[in-house]
Amino acid sequence: MADPLPVDLAFLPYGRQSVEEDDIAAVAAVLRGDWLTQGPAVAGFERALAARVGAAEAVACANGTAALRLAYAALGIGPGDAVVVPSNTFLATASAARHAGAEVAFADVDPDSGLMGVAEAEAAIARAAKAGWRVRALAPVHYAGQTAPMDGLAGLAQAEGLALVEDACHAVGTVDVSGGGETPVGAGRPEVEAGSLTVFSFHPVKTIAAGEGGAVTGSDPSLMARVRRLCNHGMMREPQEGEGFADPEAALDAEGKANPWYYEMAEPGFNHRLSDIHAALVLSQLGRLDRFVDRRARLMALYAERLAPLAPLVRPPALVPWCRPAWHLCAARIDFDAAGRSRSAVMAALRALGVGTQVHYIPVHRQPYWRRRYGDLALPGAMAHYAHTLSLPLFPAMADGDVDRVAAALERALS
Ligand SMILES: *Cc1c(COP(=O)(O)O)cnc(C)c1O
Repeated sequence: MADPLPVDLAFLPYGRQSVEEDDIAAVAAVLRGDWLTQGPAVAGFERALAARVGAAEAVACANGTAALRLAYAALGIGPGDAVVVPSNTFLATASAARHAGAEVAFADVDPDSGLMGVAEAEAAIARAAKAGWRVRALAPVHYAGQTAPMDGLAGLAQAEGLALVEDACHAVGTVDVSGGGETPVGAGRPEVEAGSLTVFSFHPVKTIAAGEGGAVTGSDPSLMARVRRLCNHGMMREPQEGEGFADPEAALDAEGKANPWYYEMAEPGFNHRLSDIHAALVLSQLGRLDRFVDRRARLMALYAERLAPLAPLVRPPALVPWCRPAWHLCAARIDFDAAGRSRSAVMAALRALGVGTQVHYIPVHRQPYWRRRYGDLALPGAMAHYAHTLSLPLFPAMADGDVDRVAAALERALS
């Protein structure tokens, strides 16, 4: 294995990619080859990701937002429909549903874990019904790398006839251990008859990096075929008997086989494809996923130790029992009121001490667009989570001593 590239960590950002010489070699090989897009690196990454997450198939795409957009579109979600989205997430989980023409039924979250549970999803479904929306899907977010309680949410989806779109942008490598089993995030819930898809992001702050990249995974062949088609202009190479051909003369050759140059479109799609340049990087990174996950787990264990003396002002993230997380964020819980310091002041003080932090997340339902659309929703769990959350530096290149540095800086910033 190639040595990590030297990185200057005088300032610790809250997250950063780990690019090594073999990643660079993989990308360079693509640049020297014949295919910059729609080539073997994309296909190879799709096979490797599907195998890693226990799904029948993966479709690589341009980013996590495109993955969400494709998942909602493939499920046929549109105007008059609604998607249940926890308010503690990145903007895109909700925006992608809106771009599909759907409404967003914002759900509350547990104030400690930041995760949407069954009760919160049920409350959102009830509010959506009152508004006259047809709820079509639950979109649980596996915040910080821990899964939402998927046994319960899959049961709810199946009982209500809803599809499941797991936003696993934080959780590549996380394993669901509920019921004594071991199911990687991405395998989905085949028992959910209305459809089960999982989406990933490979933005550089996430666990493995493509630069920009994403994927949809699933195991229903016709649903995944629709994801794949929508990702590439809705284009099909095989004439679809019964649909009516784009050009009956051209569709089939003399032997009745699809003409190699022929294409047709049954519904408008997108160009949300991933390039082979990005695919080569993320395929190379996927080979190190276990190492990244182990290193992140070790750093989180160190955080739990080093932050313990700062309790109850500072507490590490709340753990849920049903998963073995691939930690994306160290979202610490800080009682800023009790410390008598505003979050902004603490963040500025930490920055001056060389420690970068970020807030995940301002509850999405508070964004001006959504307030204009739905007014002021009362989601107290999401607001309580927001009030105390602060993401501390967490990435594989951090040394053990960097955790001490962060803990010491936090103690100073809060005193
Ligand atoms: C990063 C992220 C996205 C969007 O992924 P991009 O690759 O940045 O488009 C969506 N949802 C969550 C929860 C994310 O963290």
